[in-house]
Amino acid sequence: MTRRGLELSPTDGSLMSMDDVVIEVDGLRRSYGEFEAVRGISLRIRRGELFALLGTNGAGKTTTIEVLEGLQPATSGRVRVLGLDPVRDRNSVRPRTGVMLQHGGFTGSLTVRETVEIWRSLTVRPQSTAEVLDLVDLGDRMNVAVEQLSGGEGRRLELALAVLGRPEVLFLDEPTTGMDPASRRRTWDVVRELQKGGTTVLLTTHYLEEAEVLADRVAIMRGGNIVATGAPEDVVRTLPARISFRLLGTDVLPDLPHATRLVDGDRVVYESRQLQADLTRLLEWANAGDIRLAALSARPATLEDVFLDIAADHDLTDQLAEPEAVR
Ligand code: ATP
Repeated sequence: MTRRGLELSPTDGSLMSMDDVVIEVDGLRRSYGEFEAVRGISLRIRRGELFALLGTNGAGKTTTIEVLEGLQPATSGRVRVLGLDPVRDRNSVRPRTGVMLQHGGFTGSLTVRETVEIWRSLTVRPQSTAEVLDLVDLGDRMNVAVEQLSGGEGRRLELALAVLGRPEVLFLDEPTTGMDPASRRRTWDVVRELQKGGTTVLLTTHYLEEAEVLADRVAIMRGGNIVATGAPEDVVRTLPARISFRLLGTDVLPDLPHATRLVDGDRVVYESRQLQADLTRLLEWANAGDIRLAALSARPATLEDVFLDIAADHDLTDQLAEPEAVR
């Protein structure tokens, strides 16, 4: 029997031991004046989990992460990090967490080495300068002034500072923005290594592939609310797979048992709930009739499809809401 017992996750309904929960959010609201940026969200993140917060611009991701970092107070609701209040217990929480803000700030005239050394002097049990700079592949840029770093190198230096104290919890707000594909992959490796060592990671990103590759679970925010959540493969399963092709030599089309047919210009598109069965039926039909399916493609939905679907719904809601607001 665990000390704090078992509880159903408010995000995906799974049973979780409260001893394993490192980040708890219950009914979080955060307003800026009249405007409510976060509108009552709840989530639980387990020790060693990598959780990605996704959402359109202005959805409330940075606000949520900053409340968890203790940089902003909640307007209402309850937030705990490592069982502590990130604002009231800041002195206890801060040394156990690493933070990479969306817009970090450096003193431009200091070198990379000097910047890391200043941070080391403020950090409990820091890694060595060489070790942390090697980790983010900046070992050969130690003596360069920070203002001369490229955008992607600057993000890597911020990552180095965030992980300097071997944090138990790491907050990464759009960590790979501005990085080239090789640096991005390198950053993913660093994050995976930290996670293997037991670090809990909360990440925001606009790169949906990044969330698909790294995250154990994701939550998609829209207008201050969480509108979809779960393991990436489960979130993706909410949308059908797509089979598409151009039909040559006939305009007869088969009925696929688990699919809906759409027409997209001269392409035939099926949205399928059972990709393997529908694709098998289609290919059998084509082979039997000696029919050529040009540019055939079959793929499950992606996180990007889910994201776009959610973003499109939002636009529609806005359009529908407008006349109400005028009245
Ligand atoms: P992005 O993907 O663009 O970074 P986000 O999901 O991180 O967006 P937030 O930065 O949390 O979104 O912003 C949520 C909303 O709150 C936005 O409409 C933003 O304009 C507003 N907002 C954020 N900070 C403030 C502030 N200090 N004062 C007033 N409004 C703010």
